Amino acid sequence: MTVGTELLLGDTIDTNAAHAGLVLAARGIRVARRATVGDRAEDIRDAVDQALARTGLVLVTGGLGPTRDDITRDVVATLLDCPLQFDESLWDALVARWAAVGRTISESNRSQAMVPAGATVLPNRRGSAPGLWIETARGLVILLPGVPIELETLLAEEVLPRLEERLGLRSIRSRVLRTSGIPESRLGELLGPLEESLAPVTLAYLPDQTGVDLRLTAWELEGSAADAALDQAETIVREAAGEWVYATGLRDLAEVVLAGLRERGMTLVTAESCTGGLVGARVTAIAGSSDVYLGGIVSYANEVKITQLGVHASLIVAHGAVSEPVVAAMARGAAERLGARVAIAVSGVAGPGGGTPEKPVGTVCFGWSIDGSVTTATAGFAGDREQVRIRSAQAALLGLHRRLTGR
Ligand code: ATP
Ligand code: MG
Repeated sequence: MTVGTELLLGDTIDTNAAHAGLVLAARGIRVARRATVGDRAEDIRDAVDQALARTGLVLVTGGLGPTRDDITRDVVATLLDCPLQFDESLWDALVARWAAVGRTISESNRSQAMVPAGATVLPNRRGSAPGLWIETARGLVILLPGVPIELETLLAEEVLPRLEERLGLRSIRSRVLRTSGIPESRLGELLGPLEESLAPVTLAYLPDQTGVDLRLTAWELEGSAADAALDQAETIVREAAGEWVYATGLRDLAEVVLAGLRERGMTLVTAESCTGGLVGARVTAIAGSSDVYLGGIVSYANEVKITQLGVHASLIVAHGAVSEPVVAAMARGAAERLGARVAIAVSGVAGPGGGTPEKPVGTVCFGWSIDGSVTTATAGFAGDREQVRIRSAQAALLGLHRRLTGR
């Protein structure tokens, strides 16, 4: 159950319900129903009451904060007849948490140290409101904060292990192989005929903007037997589609590319037009990128391509700013002027305007310079401006990855 008037108004999209459903299902816990209520005591009480009557187990997110509209804790404590008690050690931990960043905790946070009698406190290392695990004769109620990162961390680290123990579940092992540059339908054609041979491992296709994750799940197996089955399934999948797999596990492509460059002692720079720095953002999002990534130039205007990257004006006149000769010159110029062994250049038509019959919206050119040798490519992406930009940044990184690994 998710609590928050902002969810009903649509100001905030209820990602918590989706996330909880996903991770619970992955552990074999079926969500029977989900509900959203506003920050109103009667509504919260009724919804928890009904959910308890239905299944005896309800997970609630939101409304544990220190403000007046955060009432979940009080309402549930009253409903379950577990009076709130001030938890001195929890309060001390909160005070220390704030002091560690040089701040004084506000008195209004005291509500977050109130614990229903008999409840277990689930420590929240991402924020101030702890989760609460309340087990009564009527069933189990788990209260978690609404902030998505706090909810996700608490679910993974505190709630799921306890639920598995409490419900006697086996943990189900799975492994993700990340692919990019190949549509889900083509992957399905390559892998579909092999799916039966993966048994007892199953294969799920999880597409997003930047690629398709292949999730292998070993049902009904535990420990080393599960690992062995996953190894075998991974071998089969890689034989058929390994060319498109860039990582095992949830690693970002930028991290994989950085590791590849680091291994080769190479430095990287970027020259970006339509992506406006997105490639640089992807790379610098990875901790420790500074030993590889030197920086970049967002050369949006032609003058900047000319003055900062040394692209000849005549190239732009002859071929247009979105062209392989221009991205080649951008990549070469960035590598030379910023002094790196490797450069990525991107120039494209992100839309919604600017398209022509020869270069429609979604046309994007890429240049990669590796030790002075420059290659280029042109792609056509579907989607709106944001999608074209996101896909362009991914393709720029993927092109470098494929060139470095010789695929
Ligand atoms: P905290 O104790 O950290 O303040 P809280 O339990 O009080 O957390 P809320 O005040 O309800 O949580 O929400 C905090 C933030 O999290 C808000 O910005 C809210 O929009 C967002 N949020 C709450 N519930 C959800 C949800 N179901 N999905 C996505 N975001 C949510
Ligand atoms: Mg709220």
